[in-house]
Amino acid sequence: MDRLISTGWCGPLVERHGLPWVTEQIRAVLRDLRAGVLAIPDSDAGYARLVGDRLESARKPSLNRVINGTGVILHTNLGRAPLAQVARSAMADAAGYSNLEFDLGTGKRGSRYDHCVGLLCELTGAEDALVVNNCAAALALALAAHAGGKDVVVSHGELVEIGGGFRIPEVVEASGAQLLAVGTTNRTRVGDYAAALEEQAVGAILKVHRSNFEVTGFTEEAGLPELVPLGLAQGVPVIYDLGSGLLVDPSSLGLPSEPTPAESVAAGADLVTFSGDKLLGGPQAGILVGRSTAVSRARKHPLCRAVRTDKVTLAGLEATLDLYRSPDQAVDRIPTLRMLAASPESMWERGEALLPRLSGLKDVRLERDVSLVGGGTFPGVRLPTWVLRWSPAVAVDDDLAALRMGQPAVVARAHEGHLVLDLRTVLAEEEDDLVAALLRGAGSTGRRD
Ligand SMILES: *Cc1c(COP(=O)(O)O)cnc(C)c1O
Repeated sequence: MDRLISTGWCGPLVERHGLPWVTEQIRAVLRDLRAGVLAIPDSDAGYARLVGDRLESARKPSLNRVINGTGVILHTNLGRAPLAQVARSAMADAAGYSNLEFDLGTGKRGSRYDHCVGLLCELTGAEDALVVNNCAAALALALAAHAGGKDVVVSHGELVEIGGGFRIPEVVEASGAQLLAVGTTNRTRVGDYAAALEEQAVGAILKVHRSNFEVTGFTEEAGLPELVPLGLAQGVPVIYDLGSGLLVDPSSLGLPSEPTPAESVAAGADLVTFSGDKLLGGPQAGILVGRSTAVSRARKHPLCRAVRTDKVTLAGLEATLDLYRSPDQAVDRIPTLRMLAASPESMWERGEALLPRLSGLKDVRLERDVSLVGGGTFPGVRLPTWVLRWSPAVAVDDDLAALRMGQPAVVARAHEGHLVLDLRTVLAEEEDDLVAALLRGAGSTGRRD
């Protein structure tokens, strides 16, 4: 060990990685050499390469860029919405100092809760807005502020699990409120809510958008047009957990109808909660919009501080929301919306244009398939698409792993012994990197016939 450390090749490694880290990796290399896992190098340069490679791979960041070839647009495991270019630039700019809590006009203290409020009110018609860490936090905060220590009335049919451990009964409980479930799984009428309100000290009526599954058959539910008058008559706020937060007309994207924040505000909900990184296409955030008294109560609650957002998120959200001032521009420049709107013909054209560059892949061709919206939204929607499909150089799983371990990582799918990649979720500016990665993947596994 001492001899290795004192040899010339170690100097640059120590400079770059620090002595303790280099010592540790040399120790690991020596262990592997003794165990016969590695072949003994025949020169100092060979040792240097072994240790250097090990240091580089140990230093590879845990969070890496990924090219999403799955065709699942809001892929939660791949970070949900890919951000618009202007949002990325705004986030980079805000990463230094910013006027997060500083009023540039007066030179006095400002509030981080002022950012994005004007835009959100403009886009949803709400009186006030509040941005927090994510939609789960937005809902927990709304419930804590309005129904802490009291009952929250929810339909049995809306006691849902959104995914990743987010279950409505647990969120209600964690917020310090008690769950008062009414109606049945398939049918809940406004009378069920009214009966509960007569008997108990109710802090809020909660309605949850069942965003990730469909209910059909013998069903009935009370909508905002019935719940809002009931809440008003009893002095109980109506909170609507919407989840997805689509800010454009779904029919303009060829999607089935979906409640939007603007509609829910117009229907009179006191508070509407939705995510920043689902159909809105922005950074991870939770947004509360609604009546000014209801929003300001949430803003003043101590939990608000615990779930507040940082400057980088606010900058990305503001830049994304700004694009919505023109809905056409939003669809054009917000990747989530552009991917949703892309026609099967345009997918075919993109694939056709790439095929000549991918002749190094075995049996590569285009095939009809479907893309999914993902993120627990539009569960029934299948977007017709064209995918690249090719045969593995060795075995599908090995080829997929090689693509995942590349730089940048590419996540594709296996289908009936072939590799499949949906260009819908690949950004246009990623195409060159994708082609290079696919050809590298085909080469690294050996054959190329
Ligand atoms: C996705 C979703 C949430 C959680 O949103 P996050 O931003 O992931 O915290 C809450 N409610 C509904 C209805 C959802 O669809």
